[in-house]
Amino acid sequence: MDVLCLQSGSSGNCVFVDTGSECLLFDAGISFRKVQTRLNEAGRDASEIDAIVISHEHRDHIGCLGVLNRKLNVPIHISRRTLRATEHRVPLGPVQDIQHFVPGETFTVGETSIETMPTPHDGVDGAAFTLDNGCSRFGLWTDLGCVFDDLLASVNTLDALLIESNYDEGMLAASAYPDFLRDRISGSGGHISNREAAEVISHASEHLQWACLAHLSDENNDPDVTLRTHRECLGDQLHLICADRYLATQPLRISPSKNLKLTQQMFF
Ligand SMILES: [Zn+2]
Ligand SMILES: [Zn+2]
Repeated sequence: MDVLCLQSGSSGNCVFVDTGSECLLFDAGISFRKVQTRLNEAGRDASEIDAIVISHEHRDHIGCLGVLNRKLNVPIHISRRTLRATEHRVPLGPVQDIQHFVPGETFTVGETSIETMPTPHDGVDGAAFTLDNGCSRFGLWTDLGCVFDDLLASVNTLDALLIESNYDEGMLAASAYPDFLRDRISGSGGHISNREAAEVISHASEHLQWACLAHLSDENNDPDVTLRTHRECLGDQLHLICADRYLATQPLRISPSKNLKLTQQMFF
C-alpha cells in the first residue's frame, strides 16, 4: 500500500492511498489543480483515482468536493448526515454517484475494506478510517476529538498510521486564543494534542512501520515541537514523519504485514 498525503491541516486535507487494487482520495479539502499537480510530482495521476471518501463536513475536508467529484468522475463515499451538513456548508453543485456508509460499519471499494469508527469530534457524523487490503492495515485517523477506546483497541492491528497531532499543550495554553476557542480545541469535540497522539501510538505493536503526524495547528504547534514530544514518549526507533500544511509529504510505502496476530487471523 502506498500513501501520499497531499496536504494536511486547517487549510485543507487530502490523502491519496494506492491500496494495490484501488486508488482512493480521502477528503476533498484542496482543489483539483493541487491534487493533480502534487500527484504528478510524485509520478502519479488524478485519473488513477477510483473513489473519494469523506470523513466529516468541516470545510477543510469538503471545500472542493463538488468540483473533485465532477472532474474525477468517481463515486463519493460519505455518510448521509455528513452529506446533508456539507450541502448546508458549501455550494456543492450537481454531484453524482453518492454512496452512503454508516460510521461504525465496514464498507468495501473494490478489493479494499474500509473500517469506519465514529469520532467524538464536533462534526455531525465524523468517521476515522482503517484500510485493509488483505496484506496490511493502515489507519487514517484525523479530527478525532479526543483519545477514545476504539483507537486504543485497534492501534495494535496497524502496520502504519496517519494520526492527527494537532497542538502542543503548552503553546495552546499560552496562545492569544479566546477561552472558548481554546476549550473547543482541547475539549472532547476538538483535536488531540502531540502528547495524546503519542499516547495512542505507544499502544501500537512493534510491527508499526511508520507514523505520519498530521493536521498540525499553525498557531499552536510546530513540526520540531511535534517530533520532539513524540520522540520523548516513543523513543528513537519508530519512523516518524510530519505532514505538511501546504505541500505533499514524501510518498510512504506500507510493506506486507509482519504482525503475526493479524496474519494468523487472516489465515485461520
Ligand atoms: Zn474537523
Ligand atoms: Zn480538519
